[in-house]
Amino acid sequence: MALSYIAIIAGMLVLLNVYPTYVNQNFIFRSKQDTLLDRVSLITSTLSGVDALNVENVKRVVEILDVEDSGRIIVVDENLRAVYDNSVSENVTGKLILLQEIRYAVEGNDVFSANYSGNELSFKSAAPVMLSGNAIGAVYIYETDEEQAALLADIQSNLRNISLIVMIVVVLLSIGLSMMFGRRIAKLLRGIRKVREGDYGHRVDIPGDDELSDLGNELNELSIRFEQVESMRQRFVSDASHELKTPLASVKILADSIMQTDNMPPEMVKEFVGDIGDEINRLTRLTEKLLKITRLDADIQSEVSAVDLKGIVIRAEHMLEPLAKESSVTIQTELEEGCFIEANRDDCYQIVFNLMENAVKYNKIGGKVSVYLFKKEGQVTLIVNDTGIGIPEEDVGRVFDRFYRVDKARSREAGGSGLGLAIVENAVTRFGGKIEISSKLGEGTRISLTFAAADPGKEDSDA
Ligand code: ATP
Ligand code: MG
Repeated sequence: MALSYIAIIAGMLVLLNVYPTYVNQNFIFRSKQDTLLDRVSLITSTLSGVDALNVENVKRVVEILDVEDSGRIIVVDENLRAVYDNSVSENVTGKLILLQEIRYAVEGNDVFSANYSGNELSFKSAAPVMLSGNAIGAVYIYETDEEQAALLADIQSNLRNISLIVMIVVVLLSIGLSMMFGRRIAKLLRGIRKVREGDYGHRVDIPGDDELSDLGNELNELSIRFEQVESMRQRFVSDASHELKTPLASVKILADSIMQTDNMPPEMVKEFVGDIGDEINRLTRLTEKLLKITRLDADIQSEVSAVDLKGIVIRAEHMLEPLAKESSVTIQTELEEGCFIEANRDDCYQIVFNLMENAVKYNKIGGKVSVYLFKKEGQVTLIVNDTGIGIPEEDVGRVFDRFYRVDKARSREAGGSGLGLAIVENAVTRFGGKIEISSKLGEGTRISLTFAAADPGKEDSDA
């Protein structure tokens, strides 16, 4: 990056050096062109009035016009032979002059050329001397301008010096900045590599208050997040293995007992095999829930549509009837029509079933479960109320944690894994809903969910 900055600035400085000199030079050339051509044509037009192009005539004209001092003046005849030269030291009178400008002029053209090189500014101008439509010779003036040349040279050297200073400053600054940035970027890269290699505890310290230090802070936040996710993953795997181990151990004990007891009465064998069946059912439920929660974690996009919660509650109520009957719990519902939410149908069933199942499972003999569903101000609310055992105050905040159970023995007895509410929370948040829970030990629990109401037009065709 520093190199490209240097290259761009160097390019701009070169332009800055060349362009003004070019413009100035052009300006001087153009203004000189007019005056010099005027002067040449003044001489040629005066000369076209003389009877012959010879040294005396030309000298007279030059004197009359008073142009003696305006540079070197050479006059040639039509054969390119010099008839007059005002130079004393290098006088060329009588010689053939083959200068390009003079040849062009004798052919009938006005000529002007200017040149600036090596601190010298020179101008050449020539024009034909015409007599009744024919060129009988040409006048050539050569002039130099030291003053303007010195001015141009001065501008050039000033620009060169300024550019040099600017370039030195730019190079030094670029080197300094690139060293400073380079060191911080290298530090950041080292940090990223460490985190990538799994060292989530690594933190980078990028000093300063700019984008790079922001990047460093973001990287630190990211590693903290990785650290949390990793520890959650480890805890989840160890909890899950533990949960799987318990029913497996029971199955093993039951199977060993059958194998090792000689002449076990058939009723006892039946009872043990029945228990093995129960444990296997529990394992099946547990693995189903584990699958469900890992699928929710993986954020696999499930199909969403407008789902009517009323139908879902009725289905869950129907499924829970036998369980409710077992402990004489009555389920009461008050369900409004047209409570649609944008969600996945199966996930909605899981949410409602898990909440209602808990309300039945953690209830008292002869207790009550009330389910309310209504729509208000663009929001759909589902409330599951029970007159059950309630949750101790200190546990209310934790019941949504994975594998968390207030009373492990009671939950396990009821076939619970502690994953039900975790699944509920995960799915509800995914569909943009909110959960509220309030509970009083010994009196009951109330869980309320709110979602944005959906347009029923989008309802599943198979609903
Ligand atoms: P699973 O739902 O996976 O079969 P579970 O019911 O034990 O098992 P969750 O539904 O996540 O797991 O509930 C976690 C714990 O919260 C339960 O073990 C229970 O102690 C407590 N709990 C949940 N709902 C209620 C309720 N309505 N009344 C009293 N306690 C409850
Ligand atoms: Mg449950």
